[in-house]
Amino acid sequence: MSNNQKLYELILKQIRENDKFLITSHESPDGDNIGSMLALYYLINFFDKEVKIILSDKVPDYLSFLPDSDKIQEIETLSQDELERLEKYEVMMVVDASNLERIAKVEDIISEQTLINIDHHIDNSEFGDYNLVEAAAATGEIIYKLFKETKMELAHDFALAIATAIITDTGSFKYSSTTAKTHQIMSELFEAEIDTSYICQQVFLNNTKESLLLTGEVLKDLTVINNKIAYLTVSQSLLKKIGATMEDTEGLVSYALSLKGVEVGILFKEVAKDEVKVSLRSKEFIKVNEIAHKFDGGGHDRAAGLRMKADLEETIKEVIAAVKKELGD
Ligand code: 5GP
Ligand code: MN
Repeated sequence: MSNNQKLYELILKQIRENDKFLITSHESPDGDNIGSMLALYYLINFFDKEVKIILSDKVPDYLSFLPDSDKIQEIETLSQDELERLEKYEVMMVVDASNLERIAKVEDIISEQTLINIDHHIDNSEFGDYNLVEAAAATGEIIYKLFKETKMELAHDFALAIATAIITDTGSFKYSSTTAKTHQIMSELFEAEIDTSYICQQVFLNNTKESLLLTGEVLKDLTVINNKIAYLTVSQSLLKKIGATMEDTEGLVSYALSLKGVEVGILFKEVAKDEVKVSLRSKEFIKVNEIAHKFDGGGHDRAAGLRMKADLEETIKEVIAAVKKELGD
């Protein structure tokens, strides 16, 4: 994974030599994947190519401030004709997804396209014809490095997209994934006159009333185990009671991790009947991606996720048992 220079060149060659590109990423979008897709969209546009961004989900409201986020098309809104046309595109670029299942419904339009996989998850399954996978604080950093290999001028909207990717995936530079390189890229982005305070306001100071009410309700039931694990739960009935949506759960898991002394913070979300999405976070030493792998999930050392086809009670029981085991309890 260290010497990827050749890969950067090969990917740019693919961009130069083809005409029609699809860009996609993982379901439940976040700042890194939306920002990375938009930045890559600008990069490919610079070569005067046809490019479409297709996603399994809609762009969350808190990211709709990004220029051109309205160009990201939710796959369900496309007609059969349009879908068939997309299957004929030559290249599909998949960003920020550690495996192909992560792109969910977009997998249906994969046919003969050359698959280019650009990602910063070290557990990436290398599903592409080209796999640009390297350790970075955000996939946005890798897209920025790709940009540096072009003659493209640093434009404001491109810089804004990359900065949003980096700020969100590093939790505003709080996570251990943040490096000197991260800050170096940020300082270069300032040359395009980005306003990081504006980005942070859009992303972090934009809660709906429902999300705050939901946070209050969810925190009432905070469960702490041996002062090492803290978890929170969101059920469908609670969402209904408050009138909140799954989008309103963004950032909730960090409250569990924020408890003094706790090493692992977890959020259990009942996304449908007998289907639970689990977010795992850790502070210092537990590799939560290794726990997630036991349930066919994945992610980073300090931030990972998984899905289980079971009810909340069963999911909590199984995941907590796995976390305890990892903690040696
Ligand atoms: P989150 O908990 O915020 O949804 O995700 C945290 C990290 O875990 C992200 O890097 C995300 O890509 C990864 N992740 C979340 N859910 C899954 C999953 O179901 N499968 C895999 N492979 N990775 C996941
Ligand atoms: Mn990411």
